[in-house]
Amino acid sequence: LITIGQAEHSVVTTCAYCGVGCSFRAEMRGEELVRMVPNNDGHANHGHSCVKGRFALGYATHPDRITTPMIREKISDPWRVVSWEEAVAHAASEFRRIQDTYGKFAVGGITSSRCTNEETYLVQKLVRAAFGNNNVDTCARVCHSPTGYGLKQTLGESAGTQDFDSVRFADVILVIGANPTDGHPVFASAMRRRLREGAKLIVIDPRRIDLLRTPHSEHGLHLKLRPGTNVAMVTALAHVLATEGLMNEDFIVRRCESEAFEQWRAFVSDPSRSPEAMEAETGVPAALVREAARLYAGADNGAIYYGLGVTEHSQGSTTVMGIANLAMATGNIGRPGVGVNPLRGQNNVQGSCDMGSFPHEFPGYRHVSDEPVRRAFEQRWGVPLHDEPGLRIPNMFEAAIEGSFKGLYIQGEDIAQSDPNTQHVTAALTAMECIVVQDLFLNESAKFAHVFLPGSSFMEKDGTFTNAERRISPVRKVMEPKARYADWEVTQLLSNALGYPMQYSHPGEIMAEIASLTPTFTGVSFELLDEMGSIQWPCNVDNPRGSPTMHVEEFVRGKGRFMLTPYVPTREKVTPRYPLLLTTGRILSQYNVGAQTRRTPNVAWHDEDRLELHPHDAEERGIAEGDWVGVESRAGDTVLRARITERVQPGVVYTTFHFPESGANVITTENSDWATNCPEYKVTAVQATRVSQP
Ligand code: SF4
Repeated sequence: LITIGQAEHSVVTTCAYCGVGCSFRAEMRGEELVRMVPNNDGHANHGHSCVKGRFALGYATHPDRITTPMIREKISDPWRVVSWEEAVAHAASEFRRIQDTYGKFAVGGITSSRCTNEETYLVQKLVRAAFGNNNVDTCARVCHSPTGYGLKQTLGESAGTQDFDSVRFADVILVIGANPTDGHPVFASAMRRRLREGAKLIVIDPRRIDLLRTPHSEHGLHLKLRPGTNVAMVTALAHVLATEGLMNEDFIVRRCESEAFEQWRAFVSDPSRSPEAMEAETGVPAALVREAARLYAGADNGAIYYGLGVTEHSQGSTTVMGIANLAMATGNIGRPGVGVNPLRGQNNVQGSCDMGSFPHEFPGYRHVSDEPVRRAFEQRWGVPLHDEPGLRIPNMFEAAIEGSFKGLYIQGEDIAQSDPNTQHVTAALTAMECIVVQDLFLNESAKFAHVFLPGSSFMEKDGTFTNAERRISPVRKVMEPKARYADWEVTQLLSNALGYPMQYSHPGEIMAEIASLTPTFTGVSFELLDEMGSIQWPCNVDNPRGSPTMHVEEFVRGKGRFMLTPYVPTREKVTPRYPLLLTTGRILSQYNVGAQTRRTPNVAWHDEDRLELHPHDAEERGIAEGDWVGVESRAGDTVLRARITERVQPGVVYTTFHFPESGANVITTENSDWATNCPEYKVTAVQATRVSQP
């Protein structure tokens, strides 16, 4: 796809990989992409990029792309190429047959965090208005749903508090459960710049991350905790703040609910929650925890950044609330250089959540039972809407296995590969009568599909993505859709075939509808995006040019609310049979399940997932570098090649999940966050054994 040569024109658009949301100029010669050049005017990247955004674009024209609709009666049948008209009519009639037979709640939809805001909005609208239920969910279920819950409870809004540029003002950077140099490389460079300028670094992570190798930060504090003990850790940090007089009492009195604060203060001050008492759980020396708490509290500006190492736990939501507690207790919120900042994974996972992809919330995080809100949507959409939350993805799987959930419309998401406990997912998908997969490729989920509708890459459509700092950025079409339609048009075709009319002629009209129904988006329009380049929501009458920092004068919910964070150890325990704890992460050169990056012709790309073991654990098992290792958990087993490294602590192993053949999710369990069902990917008890080549 990429050739060196003379471009004829360029189009400014946004990277479709991670939640940094870098702006690029796509340089074109006719319909051919010559190169992607990072945009100096990009507000999230200021002319920088990583290898993925700049070079990993081959997937868009890869021969694996499916550009014709296909159907089949049974999943054991071969695919039959059909016209768009036949495929869409077949999907619609199957969904209606299922609803007539099993009831209107027997079908649902899954939105994509890789698609645009406008496309995501249309899928949830189709489910609510055409299916007549709220069975819509998103892949955020398996990554940052605890962020949505935890930040809403404490601060009042399900999003990060700061812009990326704000890190320039941070004196202490606290990173919890995130590996920015691999997961969010361009923002990691900004962090590193600040660290080189002298900001102090605290890392809370079971594994040594590269940020700790930044010059001047080699001696940053690394709280190398045991997987699954985040709540014990953040509560122990809070204990130090509360008992050593390290809190910002003035901020708390002015900005936070006093009763909740007093309850929290008493809770965290209990000696049973001290660093010393928690040391046996976390494995981190109490003195180090106290040093970290003092460092964070003593900063003029302390900023917290966290990732999936916080959310993908059975207590993910509790940890998010614990992090917000720390920021409120120290007054580190509401100005540049501070805050609570989730590092969102996918390019538009923030946007897919904003756009109402949850079964209990309309766009803008308003509950479906909220009568005035629901009335507004009913009026605009012209149909009565259901007032009770629908099924989350795990509930859909359970209902499918029980026999009450039979049809699923999946846009741009590979749940068969990305969701935990693959065996359970497979059983659920096999039990359904109509699965419609809309994607670029015949992914793992398509193996269970009855209808395949070709998707479109980000280069083939107009729209917007919203990054981890709430920044809405334009996505612009640089070439015609390879399969005739952009994803939003396909959803529209399906909705029309279902008998619920959608008549948009351009995504700008969809954004206008979103703005008319979503208080945090009322000022957003394609015209303003053209003028400003990007906009951070909330953008409305109060903030007509957007909002880099949230919760400035008061919290979105009014007063901030401290939440109690009782530590409940994960059910996933080590035993003599499963003596190691497995945790997972990403590498720079691959992206999620690798559907895009694995289809990029670049030999520098990593070509397999590996299992990291501490030398002590490797020696005990007779495992050498490069050996094949059988990894077995209570859920399943797989085989990975060994990498021996002291980055992981003894008793902990680590792998990535970019290749379907390594099957990392075959071994992850069904444990999930108590509040949101986000899977506990980050803690799995396993045994590792040397095996001969698989
Ligand atoms: Fe794309 Fe993220 Fe890399 Fe930026 S940092 S180029 S958004 S993958």
